Amino acid sequence: MQLPHHLPGSIELSVVIPVYNEEAGLDALIERVTAAAHAQFGERYEFILVNDGSKDGSWNAICQHADHDPRIVAINLSRNHGHQLALTAGLNHVRGEIIFVLDADLQDPPELLGPMLEQLRQGYDVVYGQRTKRHGETAFKRGTAALFYRGLASMVDTHIPRDTGDFRLMTRRVVDQLNAMPERYRFIRGLVSYIGFNQTAFPYERDARYAGETNYPLRKMLALAVDAVTSFSVVPLRFASHLGMLFGLAGLVSLVGILWSWLAGGTVQGWASLAALTLIMGSVQLLVLGVFGEYLGRMYMEGKSRPLFIISEVRRHPIAANEEPAETASHVAEGGMIDTKVGEGIRVAG
Ligand code: UDP
Ligand code: MG
Repeated sequence: MQLPHHLPGSIELSVVIPVYNEEAGLDALIERVTAAAHAQFGERYEFILVNDGSKDGSWNAICQHADHDPRIVAINLSRNHGHQLALTAGLNHVRGEIIFVLDADLQDPPELLGPMLEQLRQGYDVVYGQRTKRHGETAFKRGTAALFYRGLASMVDTHIPRDTGDFRLMTRRVVDQLNAMPERYRFIRGLVSYIGFNQTAFPYERDARYAGETNYPLRKMLALAVDAVTSFSVVPLRFASHLGMLFGLAGLVSLVGILWSWLAGGTVQGWASLAALTLIMGSVQLLVLGVFGEYLGRMYMEGKSRPLFIISEVRRHPIAANEEPAETASHVAEGGMIDTKVGEGIRVAG
């Protein structure tokens, strides 16, 4: 495709993609997203790629693309911040009126932009992808994901749709609301549901990864699940009183039994049952303390109000940098660009 030597005045679409060790699939990603965005918006789109501290050559590859295509904005985070914060950094930089979020591994087909856009234009603010099938994912991953969404639904008041990811199309007013939320433990798909307006599902089949392997091992999936539950529900805190009532009742029943056998002249055998009871009670108390700890720790970390992400460099094509409006102007600096747009993160000269 022949690229223009100048940027058109207005940007209608911003595509935001977090990238962590995705070097092998980047060229294919950029080609497919560019084609999809071009088909719908001509030249009026931008493409924000956030490098989340990749250990492979992803950043170099992104820079090479950004140096040739004025529509690519390359953002380099100072280290690995995790998927949700990398996405947050990207969303903080959008200039378009419609925002398209997808993963870098081509599991979410960029070609769905057209049909999703059609749905958005029927008067919706969010069109979220809902997976009907997941190709190339293990039965364990599918099973745990299904369990997670069902468990979450039983605990939260906000309706968080099942089997969704961050693949979605949103209007600017939704993203503005999202950017105004200062919380650190971000479960973005839940926050979007919380924001409201008109939202609708777009069923699609999730492809297998184009290259590489998942960056969401079980450990990270569990962390995301705990983030989701603690940010949207205080139900686990109530477990303490429920468990207290349950064990109190059990104690009362067994006391009646013991009393009965004592009156009948017998005694209940002691050591083993006592030891079992002490262990059970001890572990239940520690479990409840642990749940309290999860909430307390999060409050402690939120209380520090540290920036959500730290950017080491924002790189734009010189043409794009020159044509930006004054309040978001980037200055060309040695070895990179310094972004002066005011946002949540700290920006350091690259
Ligand atoms: N990702 C990221 N930082 C991380 C882990 C993942 O930016 O610490 C990106 C990754 O490059 C991809 C998206 O988040 O674009 C989703 O990750 P992945 O495909 O590994 O997750 P899965 O689809 O297996 O749940
Ligand atoms: Mg993936």
